[in-house]
Amino acid sequence: MDGNLSGKSIFIPQRDALLLALEERAGKDYIPIIKAEVGQFLQLLIRAVKPRRILEIGTAIGYSTIWMARALAEEAELVTIEKDEDMYLAARENFQVAGLGEKIRPKFGDALEVLPLLGGEFDFVFIDAAKGQYLNYLELVLDQVPGGGLIIADNVLYRGYVRKSGRIAHKRRTMVRALQEYIEVIQEHPCLDSMILPLGDGLALSVKKSCPED
Ligand code: SAH
Ligand code: MG
Repeated sequence: MDGNLSGKSIFIPQRDALLLALEERAGKDYIPIIKAEVGQFLQLLIRAVKPRRILEIGTAIGYSTIWMARALAEEAELVTIEKDEDMYLAARENFQVAGLGEKIRPKFGDALEVLPLLGGEFDFVFIDAAKGQYLNYLELVLDQVPGGGLIIADNVLYRGYVRKSGRIAHKRRTMVRALQEYIEVIQEHPCLDSMILPLGDGLALSVKKSCPED
């Protein structure tokens, strides 16, 4: 089997013209969007779990947001935070084009400042902003995730550097250490059940358990 059915790879998810256009723009402007298979996986999870309120940290041009929002149930909503104004504005436009303006609530600002201002619970959290800040985001959001809620972080294997032994180039060292620390913390956390999936650039999956702090 070569993975092809009538000329299409069965391992590459189908994307519509909008997602393909966003992929092209991301490629041109070096915007680190999720891999298409990660988008497909998030959609599948969302369809299975049916979260009522998704939080995304790191919108960029809204590529991952659109993947996720398309899988949302009727009454559900998605809040997404972006600190770069041009990205935020581009994402808003893309949500309109996608016809998802009603489901998505884009927030402009630094997640470290915006997160404490967001009320309510989030039963599905997707972390995909500054790699060095994942633990800060986790700490800020954990109280708002109910038991059974999912927390997913992208790029945790960071092109393989996170699992590599030996010397890491100085420019990557801080980021790699921060991601290693994130993985350690979620795997030892009394309130979380976690695993790492080697999908895309590495996905960390955590389910919140009812825990002593609650
Ligand atoms: N999730 C997007 C890609 C996000 S790229 C997708 O897959 O399509 C990471 C984004 O996070 C960048 O646009 C960057 O501006 C933003 N970001 C980085 N640090 C942030 C912070 N502290 N608060 C909010 N956004 C942040
Ligand atoms: Mg990412």
